[in-house]
Amino acid sequence: MTTPSHLEYPPELSSEEERYLLSTLKDWSIAHGLAVRPAPSFVPTAEDPSGVLATTAPVTLFPSLFPRVCFEEGLGIQKAYNKLYSAIARDEKWLQGIVEELIDIDEFTGKLWQTHLAVKKEGYVQDLSLGLFRSDYMVHIDPSSSNSSPGLKQVEFNTIASSFGGLSSRVSTLHKYLLAVGAYPASATTMIKADALRQSKSASSLAHGLAAAHKAYGLSRTKRPLCVLFIVQDPERNVFDQRHLEYALLEECGVRSFRLPFQETLLHTSQDSDRTLLYTPPSSSSTTYEVTTIYFRAGYSPDDYPREDEWNARLHLEKSRAIKCPSILTHLAGCKKVQQVLATPHSPHLKRFLPDESVASRVLATFAPIYPLDESEAGKEAKKLAADPVSAVRYVLKPQREGGGNNIYRKSIPPFLESLPAAQCPAYILMEMIEPPPLRNAILRNGELHKGGVIGELGVYGVCLWKNGSDGGDTGEILQNFEAGYLLRTKGDQSEEGGVAAGFGAVDSCCLV
Ligand code: ADP
Ligand code: MG
Ligand code: MG
Repeated sequence: MTTPSHLEYPPELSSEEERYLLSTLKDWSIAHGLAVRPAPSFVPTAEDPSGVLATTAPVTLFPSLFPRVCFEEGLGIQKAYNKLYSAIARDEKWLQGIVEELIDIDEFTGKLWQTHLAVKKEGYVQDLSLGLFRSDYMVHIDPSSSNSSPGLKQVEFNTIASSFGGLSSRVSTLHKYLLAVGAYPASATTMIKADALRQSKSASSLAHGLAAAHKAYGLSRTKRPLCVLFIVQDPERNVFDQRHLEYALLEECGVRSFRLPFQETLLHTSQDSDRTLLYTPPSSSSTTYEVTTIYFRAGYSPDDYPREDEWNARLHLEKSRAIKCPSILTHLAGCKKVQQVLATPHSPHLKRFLPDESVASRVLATFAPIYPLDESEAGKEAKKLAADPVSAVRYVLKPQREGGGNNIYRKSIPPFLESLPAAQCPAYILMEMIEPPPLRNAILRNGELHKGGVIGELGVYGVCLWKNGSDGGDTGEILQNFEAGYLLRTKGDQSEEGGVAAGFGAVDSCCLV
């Protein structure tokens, strides 16, 4: 896809054109909630004592070029990915085999597993589970192939707190608006055409996923009003992204939801004798609600658990009769180790969960090479590659963590491994870097414009609601399974990480080519 015209995109703007584009973009963003709370260091609390300030979310000025075939394939296989990960989450024994290698060396994974076991001991009282997933990809061109058509390679699969579904819908609408009002120069509109821009329906689709769980929960046993509970971090800069889901849930589906900071869980929730979860908002009306669905936008990072109280809170929520999005098993299904095991060449695992060969082969085609760092033959080989400064530059080393900022890249890998106790190695996986073709764009972030080479990462959202089997094996039944829109995140090509919230990237939309 790297033709000269791609590198001439986006066009140079005159200073007048740039000023017009920026002012149009900034106003639209704030007017439509394409926004984040300011970083604390940017706005001393003295300047914003009531916490009313917001700023435009980091965005690209132009929609980035993206190969149409890759885009269609990513969206096309999302239902298969939903099926795969819901099957993994249902198969406790299989998951146990994977997690067992981690629990003694990775404290966080170990705590999650123990929390699951503690609930299992008393018996789970809710057999429905909800996944709001996001499968992340980069475009890859195989340098060794004569047929250099672009393909998609998966970066990772998220099963908890998959973010940016709210803002993603907004940024595709923004780019369409900028085209419609003539904010792009005529030279850009040979590529940016209405039918090449893809609207992401993620905010609405994810809200419909939450609504499906809410409905499947059934009637209130306590004769109280029903609600969905968003478990959130506090403070949260990316609050509007979550708010868009809340608003869509109420406006499109008529479902009431509340935000509850994770650390306040035990203060404001309680359980009935049958483990029905009750929530009393801290407002003056103090009606008590029955919680149908718990949507975790917190709890994925060890930083969310500063005290034992937070582990007690996670246990309390997992034990309840509310539907969890995600359950602990679903959370664990998203760990990098699972992705590595699935990607093992000639392994039987993918077939086990996706028996239809044509479906499995499409999913398999999106796997990049990933290796264990354990005592297996493949693990020993991978340790050699990672320890050698010449070969290490083609890899990224990942721990079992979420939320960005945790990986070790390229030449930093050998010294890191040297300092790592050998027993800790199997807590990491080694992945080949995906090297996407060069692209250019301009990113507006914290009021500053950055122009130059960029790397895009496509995220495809998926909703899956399923019933767990009673035997802990891969039985059960899928009640809802749909693709739920997309996210394009774009970062400067000098940055290894791509997280928008973590401070490296911007939200973007696809201009298909
Ligand atoms: P997290 O769960 O913390 O988001 P990721 O696996 O998504 O972890 O890694 C974070 C970022 O690192 C990605 O968004 C991407 O920019 C970069 N990255 C991760 N794996 C690869 C890879 N194999 N090739 C290129 N970049 C990668
Ligand atoms: Mg992740
Ligand atoms: Mg990621």
